[in-house]
Amino acid sequence: MPMLQDDKERKDFQGLGIVQPLLDRITELGFVKPTPIQFKAIPIATGGEDVVGIAQTGSGKTLSFAIPMIQDVGASKKMGLVLLPTRELAVQVEEVFKKIAGPFGLRTSILIGGTNINPQIRELRNKPHIIVATPGRLIDHVEQKNISLANVGMLVLDEADRMLDMGFAPQLNRILSFMSKDRQTMLFSATMPEKIAAIAQQYMRSPLRIEVARPGTTAAKIEQEVFIVHKDDKMDLLERLLNEHDGSVLVFSRTKHGAKKIALKIRQMGHSADELHSNRSQNQRQKALKGFENGKFRVMVATDIAARGIDVEHLALVINFDLPSQTDDYTHRIGRTGRAGREGKAISFASPEEKGDIGHIQQLINIVLPIKSSSGEKMESVTTSTGRQVTTLSGAKRKGGGGGGGRGSSRQGGGNARRGPSNYRRSGRGR
Ligand code: AMP
Repeated sequence: MPMLQDDKERKDFQGLGIVQPLLDRITELGFVKPTPIQFKAIPIATGGEDVVGIAQTGSGKTLSFAIPMIQDVGASKKMGLVLLPTRELAVQVEEVFKKIAGPFGLRTSILIGGTNINPQIRELRNKPHIIVATPGRLIDHVEQKNISLANVGMLVLDEADRMLDMGFAPQLNRILSFMSKDRQTMLFSATMPEKIAAIAQQYMRSPLRIEVARPGTTAAKIEQEVFIVHKDDKMDLLERLLNEHDGSVLVFSRTKHGAKKIALKIRQMGHSADELHSNRSQNQRQKALKGFENGKFRVMVATDIAARGIDVEHLALVINFDLPSQTDDYTHRIGRTGRAGREGKAISFASPEEKGDIGHIQQLINIVLPIKSSSGEKMESVTTSTGRQVTTLSGAKRKGGGGGGGRGSSRQGGGNARRGPSNYRRSGRGR
């Protein structure tokens, strides 16, 4: 796939092939300057070409596909389809579409699992122009003949790597087989494992590959630190940090049971808190998200998958109560704070045995993380033979002087691999 160079100034949304009424709408909504992914992706897509975008949540990628899709659907009378991995993300993406496309009389519909199918069937009878869906529920609708995908003129695969992580590859292949080849496709992914490249090759028309905000670039804007803390002392440390910091806090737990327990403890500490994980109903999740967004709850405790759609303005702090099972998730997690160029802070708890995982995270983000003991004292860092500082981490695997070979490696072994079919990510190739 050819790479596109970033050779022009990013000043405003003019010159990206966007029609005037849509430009006016973007301005009305307060967007002045395109983010790098928007600047690169929009002109290719409005020019009718396929795009593979390597970009993370927080980079502004939603508008980079929403704008071309709305423009295409408005002109072609064909349908737009956005496929994405989680319900929460679907809700947020649909909201963006509604805001932009609503005034043009374009109807959107959201097809996600975990909710009653009947209202969705009624909406589909109304022939929506744009559909935002998770793969399983979309297939249910296709099988029940509530919808035909033959008329899809533009398809977006959002967070494609995450969809594969969650085991959606068979559903994706099925959905793609229902569709006409005469369509435009945009694929977005935070990483570019071979399986994604294969999808692009098989189902896209010579896509242009664009890349922004490598994990390190996003992470660089966020103040980060690590506390080495024994498991039994984590709760006390959490209480101290919640008292020391102001503002909304997102706490990550590795398991849903852990999330529940942590949220309960936080409430006992006297802070308002809710939890977001797969044991909660769709309704409960929506309420939790809304409550967190409007400040009803100061603290949200979430697992990785459930947290994908969280987009809260001014999220002050992300706390990794547990380190992520997969190193890549670190950047997804901390990307919840410091969104679209704003600054944020992320604090991770690591037990003494998890120092090796901190090493992997450092390799991924290419940053040396300040390390403290649970009492807040700074712990030592050293300089390697390459001149790069790394912390004294007994378990960190470093081959050949830290040349980046470990980027994107996932945490393996230890019996805690969270998602079965996700091991392909360990190679981290093609970043
Ligand atoms: P996304 O990566 O699409 O989830 O967007 C992350 C955040 O950036 C959202 O809160 C967007 O509203 C915001 N955003 C997206 N594009 C822009 C832009 N061009 N200027 C300012 N904020 C933006």
